Amino acid sequence: MMNGTIRKAAVIGSGIMGSQIAAHLANVGIPTLLLDIVPKELSEEEARKGLALDNPAVRNRYAASAIAKLAKIKPAPLYDPSFASRITPGNLEDDLSQIAHVDWIIEVVVENLDVKKSLFEKIEQYSKPGTIITSNTSGISIDAMAEGRSAEFQKQFLGTHFFNPPRYMKLLELVPGEHTDPELVQSMKQFCERVLGKGVVIAKDTPNFIGNRIGTYGLLVTLQEMQKNGGYTVEEVDAVTGPAMGRPKSATFRTLDLVGLDTFIHVADNVFHQIEEGAEKEVFRTPEVLKGMAQRKWLGEKSGQGFYRKV
Ligand code: NAD
Repeated sequence: MMNGTIRKAAVIGSGIMGSQIAAHLANVGIPTLLLDIVPKELSEEEARKGLALDNPAVRNRYAASAIAKLAKIKPAPLYDPSFASRITPGNLEDDLSQIAHVDWIIEVVVENLDVKKSLFEKIEQYSKPGTIITSNTSGISIDAMAEGRSAEFQKQFLGTHFFNPPRYMKLLELVPGEHTDPELVQSMKQFCERVLGKGVVIAKDTPNFIGNRIGTYGLLVTLQEMQKNGGYTVEEVDAVTGPAMGRPKSATFRTLDLVGLDTFIHVADNVFHQIEEGAEKEVFRTPEVLKGMAQRKWLGEKSGQGFYRKV
């Protein structure tokens, strides 16, 4: 961090979290590059327009359509409506070299260690020395992601775990790895509090850190109890855990639809594979009902259908 300032940023992954993290950065005035993978097939609309797969608009489609969607939704309080103009869409094949010009790179791609590791290998090739590199992982080990990278990379690398929806949720977990520079952790804490307006908690690099270790456990136990004791419906549980508790927007299954069932399953699996045999491990085994929904692509809001259908 030069003179304690982040002047430009790159967010890699333009899904639910990446697009909104980019929006949050752009809103506080930071020009942000938003990159995603290149689509492998044309959409119906692109085919109808006669576009080819090598058309730049098609190649940047994921990031560009994420920005267009963000610009349409109701802005968070204190949002500057021109934020979208500070986000530049691109793709990982053509534009990764652009990360040489940013001070902070945030990885926000699918929750999979191998995918993230191979991305960090590429990021290491293109980023300039001293760039801050962070992951928005929900709970994959920071040290496991940094394995194989240089000492310089490992010093500059940590977890910045935003909560969903990241423009509204105040909580941010900062997760240093074994080799993260302690001064960087402190300067990031100040930056995230003062500039991004977050409430920062420093978490240890344990499976799912703090928030998701507790959150996934709570949700999975809720599901099991509903089935065991026969007859509590999704609506009943949401009524009790949402409006009745004065939290109209954070009911259990509405939250799961917001998070995405695929992501939730990866996050629960992460603990399942890392803890010893026993009753607690069994809690983290993916319930059949969630597996079945994910197989049908009932992933929540992002696919239009989860526990609730998006209207
Ligand atoms: P998402 O499914 O909305 O988006 C994932 C993005 O990854 C997509 O844009 C996709 O194109 C991209 N991607 C897929 N395969 C890729 C590859 N091989 N290389 C590069 N990019 C690839 O997911 P999300 O909910 O935005 O989650 C992203 C990260 O943020 C995950 O690590 C997740 O655990 C974490 N996270 C999610 C939430 C949540 O509530 N959804 C909350 C906090 C943290």
